[in-house]
Amino acid sequence: MRVVVAGGAGFLGSHLCERFLADGAEVICVDNFLTGRPENVDALRAHPAFRLLRRDVTGPVDLAGPLDAVVNLASPASPVDYRALPLETLAAGARGTGRLLELARRKKARLVLASTSEVYGDPQVHPQPEGYWGHVNPVGPRSMYDEAKRFAEALTTAHRATHGTRTGIVRIFNTYGPRMRADDGRAVPTFVTQALAGKPLTVAGDGTQTRSLCYVDDLVDGLVRMTVGDHPGPVNLGNPEELSMLDLARLVARLCGDQAPIAFVSRPPDDPGMRRPDVSLALAELDWRPRVTLADGLARTIDWFRLRAAAPPPVPRQPGPARLPAQDG
Ligand code: NAD
Repeated sequence: MRVVVAGGAGFLGSHLCERFLADGAEVICVDNFLTGRPENVDALRAHPAFRLLRRDVTGPVDLAGPLDAVVNLASPASPVDYRALPLETLAAGARGTGRLLELARRKKARLVLASTSEVYGDPQVHPQPEGYWGHVNPVGPRSMYDEAKRFAEALTTAHRATHGTRTGIVRIFNTYGPRMRADDGRAVPTFVTQALAGKPLTVAGDGTQTRSLCYVDDLVDGLVRMTVGDHPGPVNLGNPEELSMLDLARLVARLCGDQAPIAFVSRPPDDPGMRRPDVSLALAELDWRPRVTLADGLARTIDWFRLRAAAPPPVPRQPGPARLPAQDG
């Protein structure tokens, strides 16, 4: 199998590249390093079946040779990132998705779009099944991300209907694990880095808002099943174990072996009050269910952040990522 992972140098993408390589696939990682890091895939660069292309998917994406699948993960994903990069986020969802759909159509490849639970907005149905249309503010502070993904889903659906492109849509719920950026604003890396530094854990609002957290290995397994299957989706992928942000902060503090205090900070506007996937479709269609418990996944994540904090700072690249090939050979 020969697969393109767009956004492959990001958090999820780098784990997905690794998994495809372990399964014997040939992997072309396409990334412009907007929010991802070359170091996420450094260890893969020596692998004979791995290729890294520095490329913006909102521009032309022509690749030589046959392709079996394209997994479209290329988009800023954390609230800190997409608020700082609103136009890039909308362009990735619209133009980037369009370019990758065209690539998949030309190559007769399967395209899997990484959509998000954010398409449900601040949900009024709980847990969220795929049939729920969502409750989204189109001009709110999260709209550049939510609407980019909703448009990407619509474009993917239209491509399938118009051109017969073999597409699949997954809606990913909050996922965590090693290689998240400490400064990306998401709850797990924020709490873990605060706890490891002995700082107070900053919980938004009163902390009663809930999330459901999926460990990255489970999520990647669902993505692979979707890629090798033929279900059009949308299919929810996430861990239905739900907990409040305050409980998460307390758990992280305990697992870090510290008695780090909790500090309450103001809650961002349009922050969803609850999130929990209904994953019965993924179970029925992909035979997929998350297997890693929250305590296990957090322990692995904390170990990774601990090792990273102890490691010497990375040697600056000379020259930087720009040295990577901009065109495929
Ligand atoms: P990430 O920011 O770590 O990875 C995204 C990658 O896409 C980065 O490497 C970035 O450089 C790259 N990218 C962005 N715009 C690009 C462009 N125009 N051209 C080429 N590359 C581009 O984020 P992540 O958490 O790994 O998320 C990956 C995907 O999964 C995103 O599409 C995101 O919306 C989706 N998702 C993630 C989560 C989660 O909890 N991690 C939840 C829901 C959906």
